[in-house]
Amino acid sequence: MLKIRSRRMRFVVIACVLAGYIVGTLLARRRGYNMGGTLVVRCRQGHLFSTIWIPGASLKAIRLGWFRLQRCPVGHHWSLVRPVRDVDLTADELRFAREHRDLRIP
Ligand SMILES: [Zn+2]
Repeated sequence: MLKIRSRRMRFVVIACVLAGYIVGTLLARRRGYNMGGTLVVRCRQGHLFSTIWIPGASLKAIRLGWFRLQRCPVGHHWSLVRPVRDVDLTADELRFAREHRDLRIP
């Protein structure tokens, strides 16, 4: 395990991690994903639902990069979920996803 001794170095590392999250969030938003708020995700079984997705912060899910392991409120099971862009969904799919939300915590 890397030990960061100096206070200045610790600050630089934390600032870089935060900058990475911010840049990643902005890039994902530019691509049409509603990162940093409520967005639509799809589980491995194809269920759609809404969840709060804040990069770097999650209390209800295990983060795995672009995927997360979390509880699917539609199929009532644990699954890998991935973000879906609103523009890639039909009006019915979007309505269904917005009607099905998981816990209102990130
Ligand atoms: Zn599901």
